[in-house]
Parts: sequence; C-alpha cells; structure tokens
Amino acid sequence: MSNFPLQVDNLSKKFPGKKGMGTVHAVSGVSFNVESGEIVGFIGHNGAGKTTTIKCILGLLRQTGGTVRLWNSLPADSKVRRRIGYVPENPDYDQSFSPLEYLSMFASMRGLSGSSGDWTALLGRVGLSGWEKTVVKQFSKGMRQRMSLALALQSRPDFLVMDEPTGGLDPVARKEFRDIILEENQRGASVFLSSHILSEVETVCHRAVMLSGGKLVSQGSMKELLGGEQTYRILAEAGDTQDTVEFLVPERELQEKIDALRGKNLKVMKVELVLKTLEEVYLTARGGEN
Ligand code: ATP
Repeated sequence: MSNFPLQVDNLSKKFPGKKGMGTVHAVSGVSFNVESGEIVGFIGHNGAGKTTTIKCILGLLRQTGGTVRLWNSLPADSKVRRRIGYVPENPDYDQSFSPLEYLSMFASMRGLSGSSGDWTALLGRVGLSGWEKTVVKQFSKGMRQRMSLALALQSRPDFLVMDEPTGGLDPVARKEFRDIILEENQRGASVFLSSHILSEVETVCHRAVMLSGGKLVSQGSMKELLGGEQTYRILAEAGDTQDTVEFLVPERELQEKIDALRGKNLKVMKVELVLKTLEEVYLTARGGEN
C-alpha cells in the first residue's frame, strides 16, 4: 500500500433528507489520492459534495461507504490528525478571544512549543499584524479567514486541507493566500484545496479532482486536463465590407478552414491559439456526466 497523505477509495455519504424528500446522496463512490508534495485542487459546483468529502477525510463525518486513509491510517488516529492543518469553509470562533489568545490556547492543547513572539510573527505572515490582541468579534470575514489560516499553519502541518479558503476574499488577499500555499508546499507540505475559483486552482495546483452531483467527473494533472487538442481563433476580414468575422476551429481543421476562407475571398487577419481554461474543462466534464 502506498504511503500517500490521502487515499480516498469509493467514498459515499448519504444523509437522511428532509421530511418526504428521501435520501440525499451527497457523495457517491468517489476515489482519488493526494501524493506527497502535491497540491491537488478540489472543484465542484455548490452542493457538489466537497465539504462532505472533506469532513469525511478529517473524520468529522462518518462515511456510509468506502474508505479514507491518511498515510495508511484512519482519520480518527491522533498521530495522523496531528500532521494535518485544516482551514474550514465557515470558521466559527468564540467572539471574545483575540487571535493571539487563540494561538496560545491551541498551542497548549496541541502540545506545541512556541512563544507569544512566534505567534505574533505567524499572525504577521497571514496579514494580521497589529490585530493580534483584538477580539474576533471586531474582525471582518476576511480577517477571520486569515486567522483560520494561522491556526492551520501553527503546527507546521505535513498536509493542509483547505475548504474554500479564499472565498469572499479580495484579489490582494487571495494572492497572499496563494503565495502562502505555495510557500507551504515548498516547505514540504501536501495540499488539498477546495475552491470555486478555478483560475486559482489552475495557477497553484499540480492536479485537480472534479465533482458534480456527488460523483467524480474528472481528475488529472493540469497538463492532462488542459492538454488535448488545441482550439484556434481566426479573425478574417470581408473584402467588400471590411467587416471582421471570428471563427473558432479545432487544430485538425485549421488549415482547411483558412483555405476555405481564402476561397470565399475573405482575408485572414490573425490566427491565434485559444488557451483552454479549467472552467471549460469542468463545464465539459459536467456536461458529459449529465
Ligand atoms: P458548497 O460549494 O456550496 O459549499 P459543497 O460542494 O461543499 O457545496 P456539500 O456541503 O458537501 O457541498 O453538500 C453536498 C450535498 O449534501 C448538498 O445537497 C447538501 O444539501 C447535502 N448535505 C450536506 N450536509 C447535509 C446534512 N447534514 N444533512 C442533509 N444534507 C446535507
């Protein structure tokens, strides 16, 4: 058996539905891995089953089928739990504590060594300099997310599990979070990153796992997902009216199309490669599934 940070095999989770609504199949037969040193993106529409999967990975929910292994151990094993940093989707903190109090409290609960100076530096790293002693009640959503990131990083985890950590953040803060994810990965941490911001996944992740309706619809390296046949954009000008017309053609039809346009007396002004985005890949994968 491989000693990956994460192995999810045929995972399923059902919830009892509301009265008369039957069972909710939140996750159905999902399998994927996160290997050491990887940043893996987790993509899916609202209600696709991402948070449910993450909660099963962390042992916060008990799955109804399949298995989750963290370095070949069960999520309940305290030895593996200690190696994980978790950034929840909706952090819910006691409003009356400051981030410095939180970090100090968590450090003693987790048996971590570190001084108040270390925690102040950590808070500086996540952009909370000057706010160390302010109670959470006064924090904006973005500031709570920053604190949540500090708590996840505090133990220098081997595996970071992040559930939409940048949702609701402004572009500058998103970039700061992305930089920290990359720094942590450089340090040696593997990362599982759930996100709706597909450009972000495309930028930072080595691989992506795509869910739709609780099922896995695609997974692969960025190269595999964004590779395949290229699409080209042709801009042509009509000789008589000088109107510009645009055509999108797959690579295999490119020359044929250019010849056909010239045959119709259209002047080819520009031919450019259209870069495939993860969003297109996801929408296509979902379409295929539907
Ligand atoms: P989002 O991007 O909106 O956060 P998600 O991909 O994280 O969505 P989940 O929160 O995992 O999706 O929800 C998957 C499905 O399971 C949804 O249909 C949701 O309503 C349902 N669900 C989640 N938790 C429960 C619960 N405790 N009881 C009943 N249904 C639930």
